Amino acid sequence: MKLIQTIPELKALRARWRAAGERIALVPTMGNLHAGHLSLVEQVQTGADRTVVSIFVNPLQFAPGEDFDRYPRTLADDLAKLDPLAPDVVFAPSVDEIYPQGSPIATNVVVNGLVERFCGEFRAGHFVGAATVVTILLNLVQPEQAIFGEKDYQQLLVFRRMARDLHLPVEILSGPTVREANGLAMSSRNRYLSDEERASAAVLRQQLVATGRALRAGHRDFAALEQAARVQLRAAGFAPQYFNILSPELEPATSQHSDFVVLAAAVLGAARLIDNIRLDDPALAA
Ligand code: AMP
Repeated sequence: MKLIQTIPELKALRARWRAAGERIALVPTMGNLHAGHLSLVEQVQTGADRTVVSIFVNPLQFAPGEDFDRYPRTLADDLAKLDPLAPDVVFAPSVDEIYPQGSPIATNVVVNGLVERFCGEFRAGHFVGAATVVTILLNLVQPEQAIFGEKDYQQLLVFRRMARDLHLPVEILSGPTVREANGLAMSSRNRYLSDEERASAAVLRQQLVATGRALRAGHRDFAALEQAARVQLRAAGFAPQYFNILSPELEPATSQHSDFVVLAAAVLGAARLIDNIRLDDPALAA
């Protein structure tokens, strides 16, 4: 496992891999790695000759007033966690390396429609910043495959749409959400929670499961289901931002749809948590 922090070094290695006809996979992250990130690395390693994990806390995707400055930067720990998986490269560039002309840059990747809604409504510029940096990382690494977590469902759709619209020569893969024992989706931002909040945080998953079960049982009063979940979230100390039953493409749900995703974001203490559920989630089978 090689740590690379400069673009010329990355390009030289990539050229050698290309010349040997090797297939490259990329796992973009912001570091502070947990089992969710590691599962994406393991998943993608099965189909690629070379795996690159990028670690870059991207200033462009933090809205004004968000946690860019205090976002956990834990490179030594991250390298120790990756070591047993032995990806070929950990690419951890500085902000100046990615944005030598300063940030923000003049060019943006905007996936119209998708980026303004749900999380986009509460995090100005977030998806544009994320899509722009992922485009940069794809251009630098030039992987055949890139993998993203289903926990960030809207983000996954943004990247899929971007790759399709721009004919990017990359296959976008996704990996299932890895959870704590109480159901809370693993996230670097969970460290902003107190022990007590971490216990209450499980209510977000519980409400998604309850809503998923109701949908599977044939309930179609979407507004009532959403409202009931918001009430439960407030009772558990959350400030819900949205809790919506949608089509898998994130259009408003109608009774004509046969498949749904429930998408939620809520603030608990100092942490903003997001999660979602699809109707094929194993928890709904019980
Ligand atoms: P981040 O470092 O938060 O930007 O996340 C990097 C990648 O890991 C993104 O594709 C996320 O969707 C994914 N990811 C984050 N949390 C999880 C999780 N609990 N399970 C699976 N993937 C995750």
